[in-house]
Amino acid sequence: MTCVRTVGVIGSGQLARMMAEAATPLGLRVRLLAEAADGSAAQVVPLTEVGDYTDQETVTSFAAQCDAITFDHEHVPTAILRALEDAGVAVRPGPDALVHAQDKAAMRERLTALGIPAPNWRVTRTPEEFIAFGDEIGWPVIAKTSRGGYDGKGVWKVAGPEQVAEPFAALGRALGPTDRVDAGVEPADAPEVVILAEEFVPFSRELSVLVVRRQGGESVVYPISETVQRDGICHETTTPAPGLDPAQAADIQAFATRIADELAVVGVLAVELMQRASGEVVVNELAMRPHNTGHWSIEGAVTSQFENHLRAVADLPLGSTAPRAPVAVMSNVLGGANPDLVGSLPVVLADPSLRVHLYGKAVKPGRKVGHVTVLGDEVAATQDAARRASAHLEGTDHE
Ligand code: ADP
Repeated sequence: MTCVRTVGVIGSGQLARMMAEAATPLGLRVRLLAEAADGSAAQVVPLTEVGDYTDQETVTSFAAQCDAITFDHEHVPTAILRALEDAGVAVRPGPDALVHAQDKAAMRERLTALGIPAPNWRVTRTPEEFIAFGDEIGWPVIAKTSRGGYDGKGVWKVAGPEQVAEPFAALGRALGPTDRVDAGVEPADAPEVVILAEEFVPFSRELSVLVVRRQGGESVVYPISETVQRDGICHETTTPAPGLDPAQAADIQAFATRIADELAVVGVLAVELMQRASGEVVVNELAMRPHNTGHWSIEGAVTSQFENHLRAVADLPLGSTAPRAPVAVMSNVLGGANPDLVGSLPVVLADPSLRVHLYGKAVKPGRKVGHVTVLGDEVAATQDAARRASAHLEGTDHE
């Protein structure tokens, strides 16, 4: 077996940046295929090449310089990844697993076949099919483009038949980078994009669980996080999820691990869940890369999600996911009124319990530009400290 020394990361956002940070102590070299020279990760990774990840030749020549390939995002076209695999490149996670994070219809089909709890759902190709589903199960209904959505874009709450036109109108525009026809993917091979209709789940909270799996099947699972999303964007996580019954937590961790096994995921699998008032949980969606809801693990766990992701990609033994404190709260810093994040550090860092991560990105409204993490003994005080710091960095407490 070849030893992985150089990991190629496709994409140059903050996830790649934090992967690079985790690679350093292991002595792993990171090569980056970046969209732009000033990307969050490109700023800190010397072996950066700027290129188009939807171009087969670019990706193939990049991969030739790496021992294994992984991702900062899920948008690399399946056809390109299959060609890499056929050429003997270690693509982790591989295209057959990754499709379940790229295509929500494929994900629903597979998880339902595995008996994993899901909201009632149906693939619809016309407004009439969508309306028939809504009339059957009751309105409102959630509409999602099966591909190309992120951070709540491509998700609609449809109150009734009169609102069905909007998601279907978006279908024509919804071809995300995954599906670009100019990616060398012939139109006939381009994956079909449909509208996934889902029962509206009046959840009481959202949860997330991260599994990390190696090729041979070894896996580890992190404690479950409670996550707060606003407008489809993650704002905060609290780990472990307060008040979650330990038996149910173990059950959720077990089925998340089963999903990772069944889909043969290599690296991080994030399973996003919705919890009903009754306590019952259903799976919302899957991601196969380090995930925003696992950022707490940098300080909060013995081994961070980024390090464990790299260990899995390099096929190394996985590290302990044990928590380092009774509670870890991560609060995202979104672009707001404050343009100068580094300039705010003197005030924010006055709280010595706080860890700050800034991503080197230009501040734009609503954009994820950093996060803060606080470890503590008690939920409310720890959440307070994290919220205060991120509000200050965002500038929402300046007004
Ligand atoms: P994205 O891929 O953009 O993250 P998601 O499928 O995760 O989209 O949906 C974004 C958010 O929409 C979720 O975090 C949740 O708050 C809400 N949502 C998604 N599906 C449902 C559903 N079936 N019922 C109620 N809310 C939902």
